[in-house]
Amino acid sequence: MTTAQVETKQFQAETRKVLDIVINSLYTERDIFVRELVSNAADALEKFRHQSLIEKIEFDSHVPLEIVIDGDDKKHTLTIADTGIGMTREELETNLGTIAHSGSQHFFEQLAEAAKKDVNLIGQFGVGFYSVFMAAKSVRVQTRSWDGGEGWEWSSDGGGTYSIGPCPGLHRGTKIIIELKDDAHTYASKFTLERIIQQYSTFVPFPVKVEGKKVNTVQAIWTRSKSEITDEEYTEFYKFVANAVDEPLYRLHFSADAPLAINALLYVPKENFEVLGMGRMQPGVNLYCQKVLIDQHSENILPEWLRFLKGVVDSEDLPLNISRQSLQDNALVVKLRKVLTKRVIKFFAEEAGRDADAYREFWQTFGIFIKEGVTSDFEHRTELAKLLRFESSASEPGSMISLDEYVGRMKDGQDKIYYINGPSRVAVEYGPYVELFKKRGIEIFYTLEPIDDFVLNHLGEYDGKKLVSADRADVSLPEPAADADPAAAQETAEPLAAAVLTSLCRWMKEVLGDRIQEVKSSDRLVDSPAMIVNVDGYMTSSMERILKASGQGEAFGMGSKKDMEINGASPLIKKLAALREADPEFAKDLVEQLYDNAMIQAGLLVDPMVMVRRNYRILERIADGPADAA
Ligand code: ADP
Ligand code: MG
Repeated sequence: MTTAQVETKQFQAETRKVLDIVINSLYTERDIFVRELVSNAADALEKFRHQSLIEKIEFDSHVPLEIVIDGDDKKHTLTIADTGIGMTREELETNLGTIAHSGSQHFFEQLAEAAKKDVNLIGQFGVGFYSVFMAAKSVRVQTRSWDGGEGWEWSSDGGGTYSIGPCPGLHRGTKIIIELKDDAHTYASKFTLERIIQQYSTFVPFPVKVEGKKVNTVQAIWTRSKSEITDEEYTEFYKFVANAVDEPLYRLHFSADAPLAINALLYVPKENFEVLGMGRMQPGVNLYCQKVLIDQHSENILPEWLRFLKGVVDSEDLPLNISRQSLQDNALVVKLRKVLTKRVIKFFAEEAGRDADAYREFWQTFGIFIKEGVTSDFEHRTELAKLLRFESSASEPGSMISLDEYVGRMKDGQDKIYYINGPSRVAVEYGPYVELFKKRGIEIFYTLEPIDDFVLNHLGEYDGKKLVSADRADVSLPEPAADADPAAAQETAEPLAAAVLTSLCRWMKEVLGDRIQEVKSSDRLVDSPAMIVNVDGYMTSSMERILKASGQGEAFGMGSKKDMEINGASPLIKKLAALREADPEFAKDLVEQLYDNAMIQAGLLVDPMVMVRRNYRILERIADGPADAA
């Protein structure tokens, strides 16, 4: 190429960071750059094959679909060429000069962390190409798009810049020419290359040739019958399709003939990359039709909440030449999605029954997606509810139970399923809301994640039983059976007289004003003097806290409808009734403090400065000794 036409550009800042990370990461697993380049070549071939089904392509139509790899032991170069879709000049610049995940600092921290731990992981970050600089002094990418436009050459030594200039005389596809670093000469050897290809690229669905010899066996594993496939092959395929290095957590291989012909091979990975801070995951299942890739990382064949699945789905009922755009509203695709989703949910339910330990691991890692499904996928909500797991008052600390287990243990006369949110099991068990549940021996779910109340709220009911948060005002528990354990049914201390209590409630309401709707005598409190309950039909304290924190509180008109319930048998409330006569000002401070304490137990915010100041007043009084002694 003539130098005059060559333009030199800066890499995007984020790309430079990625390059730094890649170049400076451990070299122990350097082989993976070959895998990344071969996988890009395979992707480019798949894209071309699909494009050629959608429209008739004249340019270079005779060129066979393949990947050709050559090493030159003397010049210490390695060349990887494909006859795939190629790139235009603009595509070269965006694809190899910038990275898609730009911006997030967290992304780079995670990438650097992953690269330190295991450089294999970088392929999963969508920056595989740059791994070439682990082994390359310099790289040239010569490419010509399938549309027959001009050819271009991109080159860089992995420093701050790259150059692009015209490159005439190319066929369709991309050729990557690597000048190897002094300590990476082995990648020019046929022996090394064959070893790596056999290890990583068995499932590339196009011939891969090393020095003219085909080294892979082209096969679509998912179309073979289960009994012929070994565990090793399944795992190898997982590694290929998920760009993974470990084993999957679950594997589901199934085929169906009705209502659609389907061959699906799906995997659940071991890790949830979303919680690792990579932002929202792309879907990981590819759609094939008669072994031709139609839609990589398809957004159409599974609901969003199943985006953690990896694998392939092949249906010969789909039209081969369907374009990616028209998949979305294709009736067959809609049907396919329905069948797949139901099958996957059924699979999880079966696995839960088959191996509780494995399911626990699954739930800990991917339960959040199931919960997302309950809130977003109306169609499958009921089936999904079977997969939910929570701690409960009857479960061992740290272990979880299903809604079915809860329902199976419900007491006679109990027609609702109860839950209460809290930051931890201990916090919930110390709180006022579970007191009567404990006393009556009624099981209650502990929803310890902030999102849980939204999930159960969306679900509304299970097996015909309403799901009710225990911080609601209208909770009324079934009366204890006549033959109940007398110790448990033992009455608490003598409560205040009804008239005194009513008058105390009215006065407390005056003190607290609009912050609450009503102060009432509680029939649920056992030990605690007071608690806050929600009068609004659907909102729980935990939901209110989250909506407020996210700045959406106003939109939901919240913070208004609450009652305070007080316990007429509690010594503190009894003393308060007396103090109200003797020292009304001080008694008001106590009411305020009771309210703040109850709000804190509900997980809601109080003004800490005001509370601390009041608290000092109260402490001062205590230090003074009893009021009547003064
Ligand atoms: P990813 O493959 O995860 O998208 P990479 O860093 O490996 O990330 O590649 C970046 C992009 O460069 C690819 O998405 C593709 O668009 C383009 N690309 C890389 N190699 C090729 C190739 N051989 N042919 C065509 N396009 C390519
Ligand atoms: Mg790639």
